[in-house]
Amino acid sequence: MKLARFDGGRIGIVENGNVLDVTAATGVDTTMWPPVGMVQLIAKFADKKDALVAAAKKAQPVPLDRVFLETPIPWPNKLVAIPVNYHAHAIEMSSPAISRNAGFFIKSNSSLSGASQPIILPDLHGREIHHEAELAVIIGREGRNVRREDALDYIFGYACLLDITVRGKQERAMRKSYDTFTPVGPWITTADEVGDPSDLDVKLWVNDTLRQSANTRDMIIDVPEIIAMASSVMTLYPGDIIATGTSEGVGRIADGEVVTIEISRVGRMSVHVKQGVGGSNIAMPAVI
Ligand code: MN
Repeated sequence: MKLARFDGGRIGIVENGNVLDVTAATGVDTTMWPPVGMVQLIAKFADKKDALVAAAKKAQPVPLDRVFLETPIPWPNKLVAIPVNYHAHAIEMSSPAISRNAGFFIKSNSSLSGASQPIILPDLHGREIHHEAELAVIIGREGRNVRREDALDYIFGYACLLDITVRGKQERAMRKSYDTFTPVGPWITTADEVGDPSDLDVKLWVNDTLRQSANTRDMIIDVPEIIAMASSVMTLYPGDIIATGTSEGVGRIADGEVVTIEISRVGRMSVHVKQGVGGSNIAMPAVI
């Protein structure tokens, strides 16, 4: 099943290029704040699934290009990210700390945006802002100290994720947490439709130029190990999002460009880039 969030917090099932609005069957109140409806739905999905399928059969199909696709989970408990998780990217970044040693970091939840929203670049003179194409893992069950061999049971689904990054020596959490710096979407594809997460092609284009092309089999630490590692530190909750790291080929994005990410069996989304204002560009001493 492909679960989208659109048009002001509505929830739909995507089939054949159409959205089937199943909001009423989810029980989600689209006006609630904070907007945790999708988190609640994921937590109770086993109980709700049949009602969603029945509602989809009665729904009027609306073409995807007629709806505004929002990020599926705008208010997760946390947004976890893995640095430098492909060997070739480690070489490209001259990074001595590959992710087996580097662990994870946290991005701000408020950096999440959806497929129909542009990436807004801060105005940072002399700084480069890069695309990173990543597989997003969406957690489906609460878990602590999850064993590697059980880890796939904790996954609800997957999505395409762009980990937009200001290069430099400030903390990652700051450089990667600007609003709109984590487009996730265009929907969540449930784990049963994706199967093995260690054999997915992840590609990224800027306009028509292919910039990144990798397969998740080349991750330094794979998806089960990521879940085991993260849950050895903190409890994972339904709706938590894990950005699993990027491959080689990262590069600059600029005003007016279109960034497209495609992950086999998961989805494809194209996001526009727009120049914005502001941002923090104070001189920083080298990180120690
Ligand atoms: Mn990244």
